[in-house]
Amino acid sequence: MYCPFCSHEETKVIDSRLAGEGQQIRRRRECLKCNERFTTFETAELVMPRIIKSDVSREPFDEQKLKSSMLKSLEKRPVASEAVDAAVVHICNKLRSLGEREVPARMVGELVMEELRHLDEVAYVRFASVYRSFQDIDAFREEIDRLRRHQRNIDVEETQLQLWEGSPLNPANQKNKL
Ligand SMILES: [Zn+2]
Repeated sequence: MYCPFCSHEETKVIDSRLAGEGQQIRRRRECLKCNERFTTFETAELVMPRIIKSDVSREPFDEQKLKSSMLKSLEKRPVASEAVDAAVVHICNKLRSLGEREVPARMVGELVMEELRHLDEVAYVRFASVYRSFQDIDAFREEIDRLRRHQRNIDVEETQLQLWEGSPLNPANQKNKL
């Protein structure tokens, strides 16, 4: 960065140390032109990506929502709260480490299934069956759309066929006239 005092482009780092319990790096810098000293802090940018839903709308990632959907699958199962919290932290870390600004909801679902598979087989099956059926609804919708598009093409073909059948250019019609 430029010197905040004289805007000179070159500064040198004269000291560098960990700060904020290791979450930050604090650098002491000196301007090569005016020799003023200043401090910068460097932190990792840990922003959760936004979620792209199946209807392509976007929503902010909701850790609470994620946890409650996992807890629903884990109802009456012998899994400690700490283990669930750890799984949620895992998922959040994985999502952050992707470094993406947006991820599909499907990816979050896959991460949840991966964690549940380790936590509890029954919860995994519960979640997967609900989750997969939602995916099936999407697949169903896609199929309906595809059929509609297909039907539209058939309609166009039928119209063209009817026009052709009535057309005087059609040899069959010419024959009728003779
Ligand atoms: Zn300067």
